[in-house]
Amino acid sequence: MKIVRTTAEIRVLVADARRKNLSVGLVPTMGALHDGHLSHVRRAREENGLVVVSIFVNPLQFGPSEDLDAYPRDEAGDTRLLAGEGADLVFAPATEEVHPHDRATTVTVGGLSEVLEGARRPGHFDGVCTVVAKLLNIVAPDRVYFGQKDAQQVAVLGRMVQDLGFPVEMVVGPIVRESNGLAMSSRNAYLSSEERKRATALFKALQAGSPFAAAGDFAGASNEMLRVLRSATGVEPDYATAVDADSFGPPEPGGRILLVVAARVGPARLIDNLLVEVENT
Ligand code: AMP
Repeated sequence: MKIVRTTAEIRVLVADARRKNLSVGLVPTMGALHDGHLSHVRRAREENGLVVVSIFVNPLQFGPSEDLDAYPRDEAGDTRLLAGEGADLVFAPATEEVHPHDRATTVTVGGLSEVLEGARRPGHFDGVCTVVAKLLNIVAPDRVYFGQKDAQQVAVLGRMVQDLGFPVEMVVGPIVRESNGLAMSSRNAYLSSEERKRATALFKALQAGSPFAAAGDFAGASNEMLRVLRSATGVEPDYATAVDADSFGPPEPGGRILLVVAARVGPARLIDNLLVEVENT
C-alpha cells in the first residue's frame, strides 16, 4: 500500500493501473476510520482491481462554528487499518493540493441541499459536492463508494453525478452500527461512555417511528421519534421526520420512505436514518 500526497502522482498511478486493465474503486473519507468506512473498502476490494481510499478533512464542508479543528485525525492508525483491508493507494493530500487558495468554483445542487442538514449547516453540501467533484476528476474511478449513514449526502451526490454526467457508478453501502444500535461515526470519538449509551436514543427513535411511517402516518412517526428522543437523558433533538429518500421532500406515493433524525448528545451533533419497509396492503 502506498500513501500518495499529490494529484500528479495519483494520476500516474491510476493511469498505470488502467494500462493493466484494472478497474478503479474510490472510497472518499475524512479519516478517523471505523468499521463503517472499512465496510466500503472491503466492498471496493471485492469489486475493483485498484482500490484508492482518500483521507481528506475537507474544510469547505465545515461551517465557521463547526468542529474542523477538533475533528479527529489519526493517519497512522488509518493507514494500518487500510493496509489490513488490502487497499492499494491512500490519497492523503494537503488542503492546498485539493483547494488552491484562489479556488473560484463551487458545485451546488439546488433544492435537495437546502433542507434538513443543508438548512442547519449552510454551505455544507456545497463543500461536499465541490470536494467530491474534485476527487472524481483527480482519481477518475469506475466506482465510488458512499455510506447510507449520510443519506442526504448520498441523495445530493447522486443528483450531482447525474446532472453533471460524471462517468462513475455510485455504490451505496448500508449503515454499520455498534452492537447497541449506535451508528458508527468518527464524531462518536467526542462521546464519553455514558454519552455513547445515551446516543442509542437516535436508533431507538427511528425504530419506534418506523411502524407509524409504514402505515402511512408520517406525523405520528415524527411525534413518536421526538417523544423517544426527548425522553432520553442528555439528548437534545434537532429534527425527526419522514421524507422521500430520493428528493428529501415529503414522502411520495410509491417512493422510498426514509426516517431521518438529528440530535445533540454532549459535545457531538449526531445524525441517523432508517429506510422504512412499507406494509403491503
Ligand atoms: P466520513 O469520513 O464521515 O466523511 O465518511 C466517509 C464515508 O463513510 C461516507 O460515505 C459515509 O457515509 C461513510 N460512513 C460513515 N459512517 C458510516 C457507517 N456507520 N456505516 C456506513 N458508512 C459510513
